[in-house]
Amino acid sequence: MSRTLITSALPYINGIKHLGNLVGSQLPSDVYARYCRAIGHEVMYICATDEHGTPAELAATKAGKDVADFCAEMHDVQAELARGFRLSFDHYGRSSSQRNHALTQHFAGRLADAGMIEEVSEKQVYSNADGRYLPDRYIEGECPNCGYDGARGDQCENCTKQLEPTDLINPRSAISGSTDLEVRETKHLYLRQSKLRDKLDAWIDTKKDWPILTTSIAKKWLHDGDGLQDRGITRDLDWGVPVKRGDAEWGGMEGKVFYVWFDAPIEYIAATAEWADANGKTDADWERWWRTDKGADDVNYVQFMGKDNVPFHTLSFPATIMGSGEPWKLVDYIKSFNYLNYDGGQFSTSKGRGVFMNEALDILPSDYWRWWLMTHVPEGSDSEFTWDSFQQGVNKDLADVLGNFVSRITKFCRAKFGEEVPAGGEYGAAELDVIATITARLKSYETNMAAMEMRKATGDLRAIWVAGNEYLQAAAPWTVFKENPDAAATSVRFALNLIPLYAALSEPFIPDAAKTMADAMNVGIEWPKDVGAALNALPAGHAFSVPDVMFAKISDDQRDEMQARFAGQNA
Ligand SMILES: [Zn+2]
Repeated sequence: MSRTLITSALPYINGIKHLGNLVGSQLPSDVYARYCRAIGHEVMYICATDEHGTPAELAATKAGKDVADFCAEMHDVQAELARGFRLSFDHYGRSSSQRNHALTQHFAGRLADAGMIEEVSEKQVYSNADGRYLPDRYIEGECPNCGYDGARGDQCENCTKQLEPTDLINPRSAISGSTDLEVRETKHLYLRQSKLRDKLDAWIDTKKDWPILTTSIAKKWLHDGDGLQDRGITRDLDWGVPVKRGDAEWGGMEGKVFYVWFDAPIEYIAATAEWADANGKTDADWERWWRTDKGADDVNYVQFMGKDNVPFHTLSFPATIMGSGEPWKLVDYIKSFNYLNYDGGQFSTSKGRGVFMNEALDILPSDYWRWWLMTHVPEGSDSEFTWDSFQQGVNKDLADVLGNFVSRITKFCRAKFGEEVPAGGEYGAAELDVIATITARLKSYETNMAAMEMRKATGDLRAIWVAGNEYLQAAAPWTVFKENPDAAATSVRFALNLIPLYAALSEPFIPDAAKTMADAMNVGIEWPKDVGAALNALPAGHAFSVPDVMFAKISDDQRDEMQARFAGQNA
């Protein structure tokens, strides 16, 4: 049996994600996981909330909550939304888990033993009033270039000039507003990625099948300028994984935590351990996915992410793994995505522009969103959400083609033959023709899914639905019935047999509708090995029921109302 390990980039904890975030990693990874399970792979599908770092601390402060409580609550909110969108993670973990603490400290210890960690002294701004060091962008003041008073320590957003915190006139803490700031010397750990440049370069060279988008980003970071740079892996914060060297204290690093970019990808592994803990499994059960000396040699590991996450996943996380000197599983394939834009601009959390995951589920069922998003998944280039396009996708593909087919044939059969599959005669040329068409399209669908060309796969699936609709239109059992009820029965039997096939093939994209179809036909969902056999699976006399309306159309009024509602405050 093929074994497939799938991870989705971890959503950050500080707020609810919008549809652009959803389609940039979690949704396509879910479609792929469902497909792999359907064709019989053993799958481990992992995601988690990314909980550390300053933005989480500040969001908690703003909400008037303790950061640990805030993260626990937001994790539950995000987990509930993931369930609402039917994201079928085997485990949805938390990067703040004890498993991740221990594993992050373990990796740091191994890296230090291997000479891969360097201690560096740095100057950093400390706020006496806040009792903490301030990252550059949490220091504000007057811009020396344009005089704008809200300039940040890394950049002035008014004139876009790049700044150092010490450039600011009358600097203050963005957290408390305090001007009682001082520059202090503080020590940090750096991961010596530069030592692994040749090894990483050679490893990337073996990835002939990776998309150019992925390898070109990695090559740029490896070779541009002075080449791959070492990176700081610690921060002066309270909230995070305390810096330790394995189990041992790390002299001089008291009160510091690992930087979020270092511990977040390790959570892919830790979340699999969390899965084992949550399901009464042993360490061996999760290690067989991650340790090549403990069974992970035959695992195919696929990562899903937006393009902004590619450098960390092609270089930094592999450097952590390679540098540890231990046989951890490296990624086999990286599926990266461009961006989804929103109605002539960008999604904006601060301006309330675009549709967020909670709002989407309040308006319409998850299948509607899943289908449209996957038909526009930004694979080759950026794509754009518009309400017109969304309305068309739902009304045409889902309501007119798939929903209408299922409704029409089940209702007609109930009216003329009752709620069981009628007998009729052998299939003829028209039915064999549909079998041939669907067989060819299914092959294309499977090829595209194997290659993770998901947008193309939605085209194949739509064509398979259309083939059934066109068949029914041409066979017209409602007309034939008057003169030749036996021939009408044959057509009806064939069309009813298409519904379980549609349930199976649609399940990765629209799992709720798939279940509705399978339940109505009193069958389980099973991937077809042979289309002809699948379309003979329901025998005469097999009982079924007419499902409720599967997809309601979106009216023009509804569309306009939603467009206005989500336009944001600056529209
Ligand atoms: Zn300025």
